[in-house]
This record gives sequence, C-alpha cells and structure tokens, in this order.
Amino acid sequence: MRNKLYMVIPCYNEQEVLPETSKRLKEKLSTLVKAGKIDPESRIIFVNDGSKDRTWEIIRRLHEEDPVFGGVNLSRNRGHQNALLAGLMTVKDHADMAISMDADLQDDINAIDEMVEKYLNGTDIVYGVRSSRAKDTFFKKATAEGFYKLMNTMGVNTVFNHADYRLMSKRALEGLAEFREVNLFLRGIVPMIGYSTDVVYYERGERFAGESKYPLGKMLSFAIEGITSLSTKPIRMITFLGFFIFLVSIGILIYSLVRHFMGATIVGWTTLMVSVWAIGGLILLSLGVVGEYIGKIYLETKARPRFLIEEFLNDTENAKKPEE
Ligand code: UDP
Ligand code: MG
Repeated sequence: MRNKLYMVIPCYNEQEVLPETSKRLKEKLSTLVKAGKIDPESRIIFVNDGSKDRTWEIIRRLHEEDPVFGGVNLSRNRGHQNALLAGLMTVKDHADMAISMDADLQDDINAIDEMVEKYLNGTDIVYGVRSSRAKDTFFKKATAEGFYKLMNTMGVNTVFNHADYRLMSKRALEGLAEFREVNLFLRGIVPMIGYSTDVVYYERGERFAGESKYPLGKMLSFAIEGITSLSTKPIRMITFLGFFIFLVSIGILIYSLVRHFMGATIVGWTTLMVSVWAIGGLILLSLGVVGEYIGKIYLETKARPRFLIEEFLNDTENAKKPEE
C-alpha cells in the first residue's frame, strides 16, 4: 500500500506529556491501519528540539519498545518552526503524507481521521482549523485574533485560526523543501505551495500537562518574524508616512507664513516640542522597521543551516543502516 502516514511532533521539554501523547497517537494510528486507511508501516516521529529534560530519553525508549515510534534529535534548540521543518524534511523521503502537530494534545487527534480521508480523496494540504478556543484564556484568544488580523492587513496570506496542525502530501513536502528561507514562518509559506487544499475543523483543548513554551515575548517576536519575513508592506507604510509628514510640514509652513504676513507671531513652544518628539519617535520607529529587514537580508545571505540532525531513529525496511 502507498499510504504511509508519518506524524511529526516537535518537542521541547515535553517529558510530562510524551507518555500520554504517544499512547493516544499509537491507538489512533492502529485504528486507521485496521480500517485499511493507512499503511501498516506508518510512523510517529518525535523531534527533540534540544530539550533540557528527559524528552530524548523517553523518545529513545519509546522507539526501542515499539517500532511505530521514531525520533529526530536536533543538535540544539532551534525553535518550534525549525524543529517542525527538520522533522518534515527528514520524513519526506519515507512518507506518502505527513501530519504535523504539537506534543501537548491541544489539537484534537480525532481530526486525523478526516485529514486522512481528505488526503485519500486527492487533497494535498489539509489545514486543521480551530473552530473554538473555549479552553484558551481571554488573553490568548485576544492576542491570537489580533495576530491573524494583523497578518492579513500586512498582506501575509494565512489560514485563519490554523496553527501548525496540518496534513501534507509527499508532493507538498517536496514543494516545501524548495523554500529555502532561513527566516521561517511555515503558516505563511505553506499556502504559497499551492496544489489542492482543504480544511478540517476541530475544538482546541487545554494543554495536557506542562507549561506553554510560548510566553508573550516569544509570541510577539513570532508575529514580527511572520510579517517581516513574508511582507514588505511595513516599509511601504513608512514611505507613505514620510510623505504624509512632509505634506503636513508644508501645510504648517504655509500657515505660519500667512500668519506672519498678517502680523501675528507664533509663540507655541509646546507645539514645537511635541512635533520634535513625535517626528523623532517616528524616525526611530521607521529606522527600526527598516533595520528588521536589513537584519533578515543579513541572515538570509549567510544561508546558515536551519537545523542540524544529530540522530534519526526510524525502523523501516528501506532505511539505510550505518554498517551497510
Ligand atoms: N516547541 C519546540 N521548540 C521550542 C518551543 C516549543 O519544539 O523552542 C514545541 C512544543 O514542544 C510544542 C509546540 O512546539 O509541541 C507548541 O508549543 P506550546 O504548546 O508550548 O505553545 P502554545 O500551544 O502554548 O502556543
Ligand atoms: Mg500548546
């Protein structure tokens, strides 16, 4: 059969959830195998993103006990997006389809059935979309909403309320491999691949155990990364802003001249101070935005590796053994 499914799960300090996640995913996979939907050689691959706890030990033990589990050990912590990419790129030659999801069971694994069904009907990319965030805090909901809105106004095409829970066919994975940017924002890049796409709705639950690895600071920089690596709109906005301020200053000039010839002198120290500070602030902000892009160019020209794999554990008939 040619429907080998590989689950790819990035893990950073996830020792509390791994035992449960692995158990539930294994059950899910075996029901799918029994139903004849996927190949018996399907796998669950955990990507260890340089965890400081026992995550890799647990992954290794799971693999030794049951060949359905595999692991990718990164050389150090590279962040969620790079860990996910590392996993997807490692399994792409073995899998016919890959589903990426988080380790913490926040994404309902029952959506997998529907994703696979859609794949079997010929869909290349199936996005998991959160139909409700009942379990998220008000703060998380509000920031997430703002995030998707901002992305769209900045011209980054993302699927609303879709995180990185998605199915990709082999063809889509090969497409993804062609995007070589170092500044990686998968949610913006995957829609650029094209092919046939579809969505599956699911309820987002609570983290099963452990703490979120995305505190506010990380979320903010994730948003800035996403926008500046996929859109040049902020620079365009600065240009417009600069033009607008120029127009305003001409207006002020005309106004002062007219008042001068009418005999009234402007005292306005306050107005002067306010405008100096306001314009100073805008200039710094604009420099900052431009700097963001220059920083991106700097990193892209270096073309450093996005991840390094220390070890790949996977039991397949055709996987090359080191001694061969
Ligand atoms: N993660 C990772 N590397 C990191 C941070 C997070 O691989 O540097 C993984 C983490 O183990 C989890 C996923 O990314 O599987 C999402 O993280 P988390 O659930 O903490 O984020 P949240 O759901 O709170 O946004
Ligand atoms: Mg989570």
